[in-house]
Amino acid sequence: MSTLRFYAIKETLSRKPIKIEENERRSAIFGANVFNEDTMRQYLTKEAFVSVMDATQNGSKIDRHVADHISTGMKEWAISKGATHYTHWFQPLTGTTAEKHDAFFEPIGNGRAIEKFGGGQLVQQEPDASSFPNGGIRNTFEARGYTAWDPTSPAFIYGTTLCIPTVFVSYTGEALDYKTPLLRALQAVDTAAVDVCKYFDKNVKKVNASLGWEQEYFLVDSALAASRPDIVLTGRTMLGHSPAKGQQLDDHYFGTIPTRAMQFMRDLETECMLLGIPAKTRHNEVAPNQFELAPVFDEANLAVDHNSLLMDLMHKVGERHNFKVLFHEKPYKGVNGSGKHNNWSLTTDTGVNLFQPGKTPMSNLQFLTFFINAIKAVNDHEEIIRAAIASASNDHRLGANEAPPAIVSVFIGEQLTNVLSELQNVTNGKLSPEEKTDLKLNVVGKIPEILLDNTDRNRTSSFAFTGNKFEFRAVGSKANCANPMTVLNTIMARQLIDFKIEVDALIKKESLKKDEAIFNVLREYIKLSQKVLFEGNGYGEEWEIEAKRRGLSNHKTTPEALKAKISEKAIKLFEDLGVMNRVESEARYEIEMEDYVMRIQIEGRVLGDIARNHIVPVAVRYQNILIENVKGLKEIYGKDFKKFGQEQLNLIEDISEHIASINSNVTLMINERKIANKIGEIDKKADAYCNKVKPFFDDIRYHCDKLELLVDDEIWPLTKYRELLFTK
Ligand code: ADP
Ligand code: MG
Repeated sequence: MSTLRFYAIKETLSRKPIKIEENERRSAIFGANVFNEDTMRQYLTKEAFVSVMDATQNGSKIDRHVADHISTGMKEWAISKGATHYTHWFQPLTGTTAEKHDAFFEPIGNGRAIEKFGGGQLVQQEPDASSFPNGGIRNTFEARGYTAWDPTSPAFIYGTTLCIPTVFVSYTGEALDYKTPLLRALQAVDTAAVDVCKYFDKNVKKVNASLGWEQEYFLVDSALAASRPDIVLTGRTMLGHSPAKGQQLDDHYFGTIPTRAMQFMRDLETECMLLGIPAKTRHNEVAPNQFELAPVFDEANLAVDHNSLLMDLMHKVGERHNFKVLFHEKPYKGVNGSGKHNNWSLTTDTGVNLFQPGKTPMSNLQFLTFFINAIKAVNDHEEIIRAAIASASNDHRLGANEAPPAIVSVFIGEQLTNVLSELQNVTNGKLSPEEKTDLKLNVVGKIPEILLDNTDRNRTSSFAFTGNKFEFRAVGSKANCANPMTVLNTIMARQLIDFKIEVDALIKKESLKKDEAIFNVLREYIKLSQKVLFEGNGYGEEWEIEAKRRGLSNHKTTPEALKAKISEKAIKLFEDLGVMNRVESEARYEIEMEDYVMRIQIEGRVLGDIARNHIVPVAVRYQNILIENVKGLKEIYGKDFKKFGQEQLNLIEDISEHIASINSNVTLMINERKIANKIGEIDKKADAYCNKVKPFFDDIRYHCDKLELLVDDEIWPLTKYRELLFTK
């Protein structure tokens, strides 16, 4: 096995990476494969162009006959770029993207054919919904589903296919994808935020949520990855002893990017440019062979699409460079896992970032309003936020010896902590002229425009304010960002609506001035949000105790965390804001719980197979070599053989003990799986998988990893961490 292993590496290294146009300016190719504003101007009639822009910016409906004009222009453009097919591109709840290609080509009789793409095909399609996760929606309603064009995310060409971003809904209108609730949440936060902005600036007509994700990932040589059934089937290693060297020397983070990884990145970035994904930053991460890619932030819906597209793209570009890309949150035990920080802010159509302090006291009051409302929203809905990032793979990070913890808390830095504590002392009711002046000059007026320097110190917080945005750090690297973005924008919308009601009431009933009313409400919010504000070490055990005392949730496993999704509070929240109705919330819960069960089930099967069919036979083989050796020693030395053979005898016994433990644990695990599989209710089933089946993983792994240290390297059946992590 050893020689084969290294042969594979040589083979892949000798292959030439794809040629990249080195001298082409990136800005010149940016968006070349996107049906963006410039391209639309060129290919669409004036009427069609205006109609698309209006739909994009104001959500207006597109007329059927205009849709025909748009599709014709789109088709001409796509064909000029070499596209032969089109597809409705959507994000079902499987966690990957979906596409079904149709050719433009259409026979018209007499052996002739044309290229055709009508408005109807652009606007709506009917993929079979029954093969996608639907959480029972299909049974309750109709089997059919349809995809509908989302004009707010531009069409693009991927390979030779024109991709049209779409939402995916059941025939009765229930969301079957990630995008539909996200669009509804963005609409809700837009409306609510505009209403609050009007206190400060009457000209604001639209507020956009922005998202800047940071994608972490591992690269592993594809031949090596293919030699590991666990990586192939579960995306992570389920066993493998830590190598002699891990990340303890801190020599990978921000280090020189290895050559093959660099070629992959350059190739990937070129593809990103063509697709209009504004890839900006690349660097080594903490663990060996771990990296990060971050774009310039964008409007949240577009940013979500870009992230989904990027993850798909990375697999494809990886193949060219003989890399498998691992998005799993914890592909290797004992080294850093991967996350996807979601940087989130709200921006007005007048160009103001609402999470950025301004130049004047009034703009700072606006900043404080949005800042404090965001904190209050997280405070009141921490459990729902935790549920938004729950998955079998993210469980390996959150609450499991890895940053950040499963507790959601907000870090804001010393400076803003001081500001909030001063605001807590604002007088109840009307403010004296002196107090107003003091607030203006010394509290609100003192917030510096640039807070970036003193806020980003605490890396242990799951939700940190970083100067002009909140950084939600607990999102998993594999996750679709739509889920956390839907929740964040929904709770913010809820909070802003409540805020406006309270402020208006104070103005009306108590005849307070607008800014007095705002100060009064904010003061109460600060008091009410103390639970979630935490500046200390989020990894410490003391925080777990303190968080519990404060009444914060600390759900370490997915089945536990997901329950918040179907609490009456959550259902009402999403229903009231028109983001998801009860059926949709319940369906999502069902789908995610099922996903959890299936993933643990697959992992259990894979681990059982590797342990029993790969490792135990090899351990027996090595044990036989030792037995032969002892027999030989006995033959030579007679009853004195122990003088030379005692260690071998010990090894033989150790191996037997590990084999016995593996075998009995695998049997016990299989039995627990059988019991779990018979359970009908999904929450009980998920609990069983979590608490009865999964605990065996560690025991089985422990004995396999011990055997790895005992058995001859030459015959060990699995590629070791040493090669997976350090082959560049
Ligand atoms: P890191 O977390 O690695 O230290 P930064 O804090 O500098 O990096 O921010 C990284 C990400 O934040 C980038 O992807 C960037 O696009 C995004 N970002 C910056 N400003 C905003 C904003 N106003 N809204 C959303 N995302 C933003
Ligand atoms: Mg970050």
